[in-house]
Amino acid sequence: MNCPDRDLLSAYVDGELSPSEARELEGHLGACGRCRSKVKTFRALKAAVSAAAPAPAMPDDLKRTLRGMAARRGEPAWKRSLSELAFGWKSPAAAAAFSLAAVLAVVWAVRRPAPEREELPVEMLLAAHSEYAKTLPLAAGVGDEGWEEDGDVR
Ligand SMILES: [Zn+2]
Repeated sequence: MNCPDRDLLSAYVDGELSPSEARELEGHLGACGRCRSKVKTFRALKAAVSAAAPAPAMPDDLKRTLRGMAARRGEPAWKRSLSELAFGWKSPAAAAAFSLAAVLAVVWAVRRPAPEREELPVEMLLAAHSEYAKTLPLAAGVGDEGWEEDGDVR
């Protein structure tokens, strides 16, 4: 086997090779110090990236807004406690897992057969977004100068 390219070594480090590809590459790594050293560098890089880029936390004001909206809509208690549980998680991994589950749930809901499908609360999402957007620094001047609520420009 000739020296594999970077992409193949990177895929190996990420565990993306098939067992037979990995075995073949490991055979080469046993004989080639240069590629062993590249793999070592990729592993160190991967570890450094994971350590340096933790999942971003949801801002507190957005949490409050969403909780408030959920309470105002009178959602069933199990839904409220589920979202409080999710927002209360301190571990980025747990929060990420919950986010993934939420995304999958939405995908599943959208793909369900139409007749029994509930409407997605689009207004609720838009309202949450615009309430949150008001708290951002850029939004402060926009309402005063450029845009009316109905979309007309002064
Ligand atoms: Zn090599």
